[in-house]
Amino acid sequence: MRQDLSGHGASRGSALGRARIRLPHALDVAEERIDPGQVDAELARMHGAIDIVRAEMHRLRERLQGALASEIGEFLDLHALLLDDPELLQGLDGLIRTGPYTADYALRVQRDRIAGVFRDMDDPYLRSRIDDIDQVIGRLHAALHRREAEVQGIAGEIFVADNVAPADLAQLQAQGVLAVVTTAGSALSHSAILARSLHLPLVVGAAQALTKINDGDVLVVDGGSGLVVRDPGPDDLRAHRARVREGKRERRELIRLRREPTRTRDGVDIKLWANAESREDVAEAHALGAAGVGLYRTEFLFLGSRTLPDEDSQFRAYRDLVLGMTGRTVTIRTLDVGADKADNTGLALADEPNPALGVRGVRLSLRRTAVFETQLRAIVRASGYGPVRVLLPMIASREEVLAVRALLERVVGEVRAAGHATAEQLPLGAMIEVPAAALALPGFVDAVDFLSIGTNDLVQYLLAADRNNEALGTLYTPLHPAVLRLLHEVLTTAERCGKPVAVCGEMAADPACVPLLLALGLGEFSLHPATLLEVRQAIRACDLDALRARAALLLRARDRAGIEAWLDAAQADMRQPPSPLARG
Ligand code: PEP
Ligand code: MG
Repeated sequence: MRQDLSGHGASRGSALGRARIRLPHALDVAEERIDPGQVDAELARMHGAIDIVRAEMHRLRERLQGALASEIGEFLDLHALLLDDPELLQGLDGLIRTGPYTADYALRVQRDRIAGVFRDMDDPYLRSRIDDIDQVIGRLHAALHRREAEVQGIAGEIFVADNVAPADLAQLQAQGVLAVVTTAGSALSHSAILARSLHLPLVVGAAQALTKINDGDVLVVDGGSGLVVRDPGPDDLRAHRARVREGKRERRELIRLRREPTRTRDGVDIKLWANAESREDVAEAHALGAAGVGLYRTEFLFLGSRTLPDEDSQFRAYRDLVLGMTGRTVTIRTLDVGADKADNTGLALADEPNPALGVRGVRLSLRRTAVFETQLRAIVRASGYGPVRVLLPMIASREEVLAVRALLERVVGEVRAAGHATAEQLPLGAMIEVPAAALALPGFVDAVDFLSIGTNDLVQYLLAADRNNEALGTLYTPLHPAVLRLLHEVLTTAERCGKPVAVCGEMAADPACVPLLLALGLGEFSLHPATLLEVRQAIRACDLDALRARAALLLRARDRAGIEAWLDAAQADMRQPPSPLARG
């Protein structure tokens, strides 16, 4: 029977296909014995995995707030209880000792024993708890092999899960999955950013998806509005077709803008940089006429692997990025792991009580100077192949900028002494994403060569609203008077001091925010190539003079409704025919 399940649209696009629920972690492990002398080591391996999963669940539980805490928290609590269950643990130990079996096989035997007990229960609710056992056992199995629980998608299907990690998304797309629906997550998460860059429709926060959708159900997913329809009717199918048609029409219109300048109606050129991570992003950025790469998040080199990338492999990645942009400037941001960007290398501190406020970004780099210097050397070597800027994440104070500058100068000297070619200048910039940095900017703007405003984090830290917590709903928004005032202050300081400044958070990729950012004085946007043409289109529809004249009104808005009313008025203005004096 037809059913609507709404979530939040996180990556646009309409998809029609059959559902694939994230499968319970089936364990296909053959019987395998070990030498009696290996028993202690195998027990230690098993208990190490249990500790990892316990910490993982604890972290997940901590992150849940508000309504979600009671809904999803129940499951997590149940899983945590299962992990502490003496029956499970003693059974595992016993199998490893007496088999003596491998930890993997012990897991499989225990899983089958417990599932057997549940299967015989009369109560269908209790019977269905086998899923929970499978999830816990699956997590343990993944932890034994120090990997994330794997995802499996099938071409032409729509993947439905509680959440997906960025690495999973990339894999799902490669497998030909049409769209992803998750019960948790937020449109500002790294998975969402990646989904947009992959053009993979994504709906997050569809809280009922896992309880209402079964494997094989037909779904229509609208990644724009966040609507998921199970067993769609004729109207839904028509609406889906219309969205697909409209999407194609919009793309055709946008394609025409590939070779057009990014110029306002009154003839002012605006710089569009690309946020790029992959070779495809770089090629697309180049083809769409991006001014250069405004944000290259180097953590993606670190997140996918269990070992730290060495200097040469980093150098090759940075050099190829530089070569791909054929002389246009490339902005390489130094490592920003920590918080929601958990790495597998053991670099980020585990179990921080509040990781978003913990040792992430430049804080981690300044503690792990050997790792940081390796990265800086690789970046400096890449600068021999084309213009490179170095960007520092999570800067909160002048001291941090000065410490990095001193380190960078030393590294440049060493790299040159070793006979490598380097650029004459390596501009050093700071991300403005910690409110303290925005407020203290007049005191350290002289220490940087350029700035990039990370609105994703700036909004989170300014509004005390977790960017990944869907339960906060509209509390996390850049459309808040405090955000606009801070942006305006940063832009004004940068302009006064002659320092280039871009916005590289998701706000810059939202065409609806273009008039607002232009009014506040922004002249450089950095965004994923996926929406570059849409933002160019929005900029070309704006009259900068008229918007700047309305900036004071915008800054007087007292709430979100006031800001939206201002935006509506600006949109109405954009629909007016261009002035005959416009040059673009
Ligand atoms: C930001 O915070 O806006 C930003 C661009 O950095 P990231 O999303 O990588 O934290
Ligand atoms: Mg950030």
